[in-house]
Amino acid sequence: MTFKTRFAPSPTGPLHLGHAYSALLAYDMARLSDGEFLLRIEDIDQGRCRPHWETQIYEDLTWLGLDWSTPVMRQSDRADAYTAALKHLSEMGLTYPCSCRRSDIELAAGAPQEGVPQFGPDGRIYPGSCRTRALSDQGANDVIRLNMTKAMAFLPKLSFEETGPSHMGAHMINPQHLIQSVGDIILQRRGMTGSYHLSVVVDDAAQGITRVIRGEDLWEATKIHVILQYLLSLSSPTFHHHALIRDDVGKRLAKRDDARAIRKYRDEGATPVDIRKMVGLSA
Ligand code: GLU
Repeated sequence: MTFKTRFAPSPTGPLHLGHAYSALLAYDMARLSDGEFLLRIEDIDQGRCRPHWETQIYEDLTWLGLDWSTPVMRQSDRADAYTAALKHLSEMGLTYPCSCRRSDIELAAGAPQEGVPQFGPDGRIYPGSCRTRALSDQGANDVIRLNMTKAMAFLPKLSFEETGPSHMGAHMINPQHLIQSVGDIILQRRGMTGSYHLSVVVDDAAQGITRVIRGEDLWEATKIHVILQYLLSLSSPTFHHHALIRDDVGKRLAKRDDARAIRKYRDEGATPVDIRKMVGLSA
């Protein structure tokens, strides 16, 4: 099978050194394996994405020396695919509408109990207040959630492969752990055609991705992606989570860290080789 990977930025701000590392690492790994490097624009959250950031992504990556096949997949063009995936999960009886706001979730969560995790990869673990609601009852402002307990009943023993340095090897999915420490994740956000978790698995499968290369911050979300791949009968890639590039005080870089923006380094006269050196990759 041909090695195929992707870089999947969201055009919500300038790409910084952390993005450069992720994109260059994926590109290098694809080249070493005689494989393919793809770009995907994750613009599902149209409220936060801006065309000029998308243009700058193309410019920065081209300047770094990367190339990719076109047309580039953009999540804003993929509503039908996400709707079909959601429909499939709903027909399995695994989804429900939820009208809870953040404040409702905080309130319903109640006092912390010893040994019970309060936060998962998506923030506070949903306490399940709307779990008994029927999908036919969906209101315009509702999100759609996955009933994790029900979903677990469909799963065989599932595992996935990781090649990243911190978690290298095979990992089993532990259903009880997912119910407790992840909970009923959102599959469709308010006003969107899907959620990050749903769209990323649908798109990785559509692009035939064999190796997902991304930052360590998404490691905990991987189990969610593996179960969605199974429930949707999609192929499951191998994963590679890399270390995050941090600022001088050890904080991980964010889009608002303009000081580390690739564009800024470009404007100051840095070369793509300088950027490679800064993130610890060979020229
Ligand atoms: N769009 C995500 C981000 O910008 C990356 C998603 C992924 O690689 O799975 O952080």
